[in-house]
Amino acid sequence: MKSEQDYRVRECVHRAEGAAGELYRGTAYVSQLQRLPSDAALRAAARVTPFFWADAAHINVWLCRDCAVELRLRERESDAA
Ligand SMILES: [Zn+2]
Repeated sequence: MKSEQDYRVRECVHRAEGAAGELYRGTAYVSQLQRLPSDAALRAAARVTPFFWADAAHINVWLCRDCAVELRLRERESDAA
C-alpha cells in the first residue's frame, strides 16, 4: 500500500486557468493515450506535464473535464482505488 505522498501529480495546462477537473491514475491516463490516434495522442499529451510512462504507477494525473473527455477517461480515481 502506498500513501498519497508517494504519488506525484501531473496536471493539464487548464488547471492554472481554474478549470474544473479531477485526478486520474497515471496508468489509466497512459493506456487511454495509447488508444488514441497518434496525432490526437500527441495533442493530448502536450497539455499535460510530461513524465516517463514507466513511472505511471506512481503518478496521478489531474485533468480538466475537456481533457478527460478527449481521452475518454471517465473512471474516477476514487472508484479505481
Ligand atoms: Zn485540460
